[in-house]
Amino acid sequence: MLIGAHESIAGGVSQAFARAEEHGARSLQLFTKSARCWKAPALADPERRAFRKEARRTGLPSIAHGSYLVNLGSEDAALRERSVACVTEELTRCERLGVSCLVIHPGAHPDERRGLKLVAQALNEVHRRTPRFRSRVCLEITAGQGNCLGWRFWHLAEILSQVEREDRVGVCLDTCHLFAAGYDLSTEHGYEAVMAECDATVGLERVRCFHLNDCKKPLGCRVDRHEEVGKGTIGRMAFRCLVNDPRFVNTIGVLETPFPERYGEAIRLLESLRQRR
Ligand SMILES: [Zn+2]
Repeated sequence: MLIGAHESIAGGVSQAFARAEEHGARSLQLFTKSARCWKAPALADPERRAFRKEARRTGLPSIAHGSYLVNLGSEDAALRERSVACVTEELTRCERLGVSCLVIHPGAHPDERRGLKLVAQALNEVHRRTPRFRSRVCLEITAGQGNCLGWRFWHLAEILSQVEREDRVGVCLDTCHLFAAGYDLSTEHGYEAVMAECDATVGLERVRCFHLNDCKKPLGCRVDRHEEVGKGTIGRMAFRCLVNDPRFVNTIGVLETPFPERYGEAIRLLESLRQRR
């Protein structure tokens, strides 16, 4: 696993790389614009060039996280169009920056089947608006709070099966969300069972990235509260399994905890879990 962290873009998106370097990261995640706003000024050319230069200098692969406002599962025409436009804009930013994945939460709807269908249709529209893009959307598994879709592997598989360009969509597994959703990966046996289920439904080849978060709440609580790795209810074993899993040697895995000042320490902890061979 290429262990890294979600880095701040204060001062411009290109600044995230130096922060990642400081933390000893091998990859990074960033927002391409403020995650709590619908719109942002277009990426200026100098900033885009600076970003590509930093990416080359550091050699660090990056992924992006999309806006939290988006709901591709919405029934409301206006919110739906806003969401499609926002994902299209963020995917365009990724494409211009050379960022491989835009991680988004699938959306929310009280009726699962209907909601999953709406998400797939919205993704089809995003794809129509962004032909020939190489950057792809990655659907993140969610904790299943409220009406949130995407907290079962079959939800993600169902969306993928209805997306016309399935090759343009990947999956992001967040360890905290998995655990909160009831997938017990806290033991070696549990980890293997969860990955086997993911493989049988979604397909492990679709897993493009991981969010490496421990969980504050118990298994199956369906509440999304990230904890620092090794300090929560999941414990270290899941992370030991992940960083040593030969299937994910080149897969990006990033920390998303609220304490960037401790990212360096957390990355060193994860690196120390690697088995020497
Ligand atoms: Zn996450």
